[in-house]
Amino acid sequence: MSPFTTAAFEAALARAVDAEHVAVKGGVFPAFHVAPASAAEICEVVVACREHRVPLHPAGVGGRPSYAPDDRPRVVLATRRLAQVVQLDETSLLVEAQAGLGGLELERILARRGLSVGDYPPVVLSSTLGGILAVRTPGKSSARHGFFEDAVVAVSAVLANGRLVHTRLAPRRATGPDLARALCGSEGIIGIITSAVLRVHRKPEARFLGAYLLPSIDAAVSAVLLALREEVMPSGLRIYDSEEAGAHFEGLVLPEGQALLVAGTAGPTDLAACDRDLLGSAVVAEGGGETDLGLAELWWRRLHAGEPTPAPAPALQVMARPSRLRAVYAAVKAAAAIAGAAARAHISRFDVDGAVVFFTFCRDGHVLLAADAGALVASCAAAADTAGGWLLGARATKLDSYLLALKRAVDPDGIMNPGVLG
Ligand SMILES: Cc1cc2nc3c(=O)[nH]c(=O)nc-3n(C[C@H](O)[C@H](O)[C@H](O)COP(=O)(O)OP(=O)(O)OC[C@H]3O[C@@H](n4cnc5c(N)ncnc54)[C@H](O)[C@@H]3O)c2cc1C
Repeated sequence: MSPFTTAAFEAALARAVDAEHVAVKGGVFPAFHVAPASAAEICEVVVACREHRVPLHPAGVGGRPSYAPDDRPRVVLATRRLAQVVQLDETSLLVEAQAGLGGLELERILARRGLSVGDYPPVVLSSTLGGILAVRTPGKSSARHGFFEDAVVAVSAVLANGRLVHTRLAPRRATGPDLARALCGSEGIIGIITSAVLRVHRKPEARFLGAYLLPSIDAAVSAVLLALREEVMPSGLRIYDSEEAGAHFEGLVLPEGQALLVAGTAGPTDLAACDRDLLGSAVVAEGGGETDLGLAELWWRRLHAGEPTPAPAPALQVMARPSRLRAVYAAVKAAAAIAGAAARAHISRFDVDGAVVFFTFCRDGHVLLAADAGALVASCAAAADTAGGWLLGARATKLDSYLLALKRAVDPDGIMNPGVLG
């Protein structure tokens, strides 16, 4: 191993990516910001990091940077210069794109050909492809198109030894475990994703929206689960409790306890209409009925056309399996009441694993921001956890032992995004 000096290391990085794409920030423990333009350049950066035992942190848009404050020299590797569509196969409905390409840009390129990455929540559009694949969250799943990683047909990545690997792009890959799967959600600890081949979809021929009133949150959840069990594939779904509906839709007053369900279906016209009708039947079966379509239209514009939502960001997000959704909602409401506050919620991001409940807390008629309600949020989070929910937005604090063993085997020097995933 070469002794570390800032100058020698900076020179090694400059050989890899050209001096103009290396910036050194900070003093005693500098952060070396590099922006490679190719997978080959990433290989060289990784080799330099390994040689000098310098931790390496990939960064997409940088919404959730993985590096800790200055405590030792480190490299922050931006993928922004890897932002091309490499190949688009319209017959096979496959696109190969580089890791630094933004979701919105990819969607724009596909839209010109009548294609789309799919009906995923808008967070996908504001992330890079590498960031989308590196972090698996419910924000990247949809009832209609499943989990984003299911669209991944092949991945290219640079491993900790500086080797570039390409997982096999062939129907029914039959040999060995699927490294592409392991790379998705690995947050850069196994490899730096350089590009991926994704399955894409034709833009839907028709889209329908619906708005429904149901006698309770339980009934609304039951209606949605009934429809999903019947293999309805909505492009979007959201349930609001009565308080949340009042906060999100000016002038809307629902009797206490009732729930608003808004839904979108999409696809070939007949299929989209069929999904809409099955959902409507499930609503009727749970004692509900149609209401003002304008509510669903406004919800959709907020989600996909940038119209602002008039409410602060929820203070607590909890994922729950279908069977635990109602229990989690009730447990947090009860815990908030014990703490002298009120909880209101909407439920969305439905997929086969369940959905996410987004809670907002109020006291004396005022919304409490997460930063000002630490103890309340903590007690509600504990109640949600006991009821079978999974808290979102936090990094894993402990990696499963078999993943830890894998991480140590592929990255014995611990340079690949240390500090994430336990
Ligand atoms: C722990 C965690 C939980 C999150 N939970 C949610 C959630 O519940 N709902 C939601 O909508 N969003 C969530 N996000 C936001 C999520 O970060 C974004 O949806 C998206 O991943 C950010 O993309 P980005 O391009 O900004 O990536 P960045 O914020 O730059 O990076 C995100 C992570 O991915 C790594 N990474 C980036 N690019 C690559 C690459 N090419 N190869 C390997 N690793 C890479 C980074 O080192 C970092 O660890 C969460 C993020 C994190 C980190």
